[in-house]
Amino acid sequence: MVRVQPGEPVKPRTCAVSVSGDGGAGASCYRFCYPRLRTSFLGVKLPRMADDPRESVEKLEALGVRGILLRLARDGQIVDVRCEMPQCYCFRGRRHFEPRSARPHDWEPTADHYPRLKMHGGLLTPDNVRLGHRLCNKRDYIWRMKINALLAKRMSLEQIAEKLNAQKVPTIHGTNRWTASSVRKAFVS
Ligand SMILES: [Zn+2]
Repeated sequence: MVRVQPGEPVKPRTCAVSVSGDGGAGASCYRFCYPRLRTSFLGVKLPRMADDPRESVEKLEALGVRGILLRLARDGQIVDVRCEMPQCYCFRGRRHFEPRSARPHDWEPTADHYPRLKMHGGLLTPDNVRLGHRLCNKRDYIWRMKINALLAKRMSLEQIAEKLNAQKVPTIHGTNRWTASSVRKAFVS
């Protein structure tokens, strides 16, 4: 255990990973050594870098997020808290999130099963998660379920678009009607 005397400057522990040929204790070292740690160590604030994973951890914690999203952030696997869904509807932008509460909010953070969808057996494992607003996630799921079923019936994209319009399925962002190309765009995104 490293003992630090009062007043003694706290040095980062020597990193076994040599990042920039400086022995590993340089600035880049923080990206590898500290994502799991707090913003300060023994009362001394640790320096920040761009894309510092600790910022994502703090933001997610402040939003009341637990589980896989927080774990990914702590492991340095989320460096930007933004909606990663192909279509984002949040009028305040991809980086705006509301805290989680007892009553689900459209703009609260959720974990989306991606690239392997939940309905195809995907699990919320580190290699199969993206961060999204609850509403963006929900809409993505609705399209995929509907479009998948219609594709299985060998309907053309044009026919699928007509069907989605008739069922008043919410369209992709920036459009007010489904078209053959927007069906394709939604499906392949
Ligand atoms: Zn979104």
